Amino acid sequence: MKLILLGAPGAGKGTQAEILSGLYSIPIIGTGNIIREAIRSGSSEGEEFKSYTDKGLLVPDELVCRMVAERLKKDDCKKGFILDGFPRNINQAEEFSKMVDSVDAVLNFVVTDEDVIKRMTGRRVCASCGAPYHLESKPPKTEGICDICSDRLIQRKDDAPETVLERLRVYHTETEPLSDYYREKGICIEIDAVGSVEEITNKAKAALEKLL
Ligand code: AMP
Repeated sequence: MKLILLGAPGAGKGTQAEILSGLYSIPIIGTGNIIREAIRSGSSEGEEFKSYTDKGLLVPDELVCRMVAERLKKDDCKKGFILDGFPRNINQAEEFSKMVDSVDAVLNFVVTDEDVIKRMTGRRVCASCGAPYHLESKPPKTEGICDICSDRLIQRKDDAPETVLERLRVYHTETEPLSDYYREKGICIEIDAVGSVEEITNKAKAALEKLL
């Protein structure tokens, strides 16, 4: 099964990608995660990525498309994959269509801007292991401390309020048109992404079962 997850930043794509990956035994290709790993590694490519992500801007298409094309060559992608965070604009979608023959479904997770702002500005991650938390929906056992490795929790620079607004602006201008692009191809399914994680997974599963 080849799936694309669309939706605003903070719509819960990453969480649903993890769950669907377990359910259907297919890997996640998460461009945001790959980019963050490169930044953490301190490589020169990572430094370049950081200059975009810190401002809430997209990393240039050419770099991201090359990264995805390389990842798709790996054996574990043969029986399918879940794309989380890619494609992010029409140009990336066109480039992606040259990399694979077809996609089974595009799940578009729909949330309001207000929800996005609430979800993203409350997010915290562990400075060492990257484990995700949320001040309201998933607080750590001890305030400010990672449950797993006891290091301190930080706010990702791109989750700071002013950057979240910029990411939303970029989402509306660059990424949102992709839902029409894939709707015209008859493979886009809208998922109302308000509710508990489990409720949203059930909606996604029900939609996929109908389609496949
Ligand atoms: P995400 O975790 O998917 O919201 O991604 C975090 C940041 O990584 C984004 O704000 C972008 O700067 C960058 N990024 C992730 N995926 C892409 C992509 N497909 N194209 C360009 N930039 C991306």
